[in-house]
Amino acid sequence: MTDTLTLYKVSAIFLPVFLDFIVEKWYNSCICFNEGDSLNVKLLAYTPEPEKTVATAAKLCYSSSGISDLRDGLTDEKTASFIDMLVSIGHESVMEHVSFTFGIEGISRACSHQLVRHRIASYSQKSQRYVNENGFEFITPPEIEALPEAKAEFDKLMEEITAGYDRIADILTESHKAKLAAAGEDEKSAASKARKLANEDARFVLPNACETKIVVTMNVRSLFNFFRHRCCNRAQWEIRAVANEMLRQCLEVAPNIFAHAGPSCVAEGKCPEGKMTCGRFNEVREHFAKLKNS
Ligand SMILES: Cc1cc2nc3c(=O)[nH]c(=O)nc-3n(C[C@H](O)[C@H](O)[C@H](O)COP(=O)(O)OP(=O)(O)OC[C@H]3O[C@@H](n4cnc5c(N)ncnc54)[C@H](O)[C@@H]3O)c2cc1C
Repeated sequence: MTDTLTLYKVSAIFLPVFLDFIVEKWYNSCICFNEGDSLNVKLLAYTPEPEKTVATAAKLCYSSSGISDLRDGLTDEKTASFIDMLVSIGHESVMEHVSFTFGIEGISRACSHQLVRHRIASYSQKSQRYVNENGFEFITPPEIEALPEAKAEFDKLMEEITAGYDRIADILTESHKAKLAAAGEDEKSAASKARKLANEDARFVLPNACETKIVVTMNVRSLFNFFRHRCCNRAQWEIRAVANEMLRQCLEVAPNIFAHAGPSCVAEGKCPEGKMTCGRFNEVREHFAKLKNS
């Protein structure tokens, strides 16, 4: 009898924890793909005192204070509740005064192409003209990684492309070198210019899987829009992993500003995806609530 009672008590304590763990694991593995092997997202810089900056700009709109006394009385508590009010009424223009700069590496060109569709941002990306892509790194999607037959085919193609890229780059380099030498260029500078010119065309054979590095700067308003689109389960797994990690790092620095950020079902309380919805509002909301409380 005592044993059964103890078993009930232990189950009552551990079962919810265990179920929580399973749900979180499932979220990450089935629909979130939070961790790419090579993905590295690093917050490089951000506007100093982001929350005070937003609150200061907003205070100017609503008070008769002059610039020099604008920050008077803006305690941490007042700043937090002010920001909460601004977010709840959708006063997003004041969020544009704060920017975040991220360095991102270990993503595919397929992913970076989606990232740069977000026009309200600034980008600097590793060049395939100035940087040789011989022996290029590539990203293998987890679904392909998990299927030996698909993985073998994928790896074989990457090897062939690598070899093809090198052959084409070599042929083009020799051709450009000869033309530059004929035009009077000295040998050393002809060789260096020729390789860059060769890269320009050889890169046409490189795959979407090719690894890239990019620095992106977005203001908070643009980040809200980015997170609404890209933290969503409808977004592609790789850019979703990038967006989720960016949001996690933003939360560390400005928890009040990003308290409601996330996919539309979290940020706006409704899903705009219609029939294409993932239908998993509760799990998604729980996941982001946990992220914000961690
Ligand atoms: C799940 C998913 C599927 C997608 N599928 C496709 C697809 O099949 N094909 C495709 O081409 N794209 C696709 N996209 C990309 C998508 O259409 C957007 O281009 C991308 O998400 C950038 O969003 P944005 O324009 O809101 O961002 P930004 O370019 O950063 O713009 C932010 C906001 O500024 C305003 N804005 C910016 N530029 C203008 C402008 N010129 N005129 C008026 N207002 C402007 C808009 O309000 C816009 O929302 C997809 C995105 C997602 C998340």
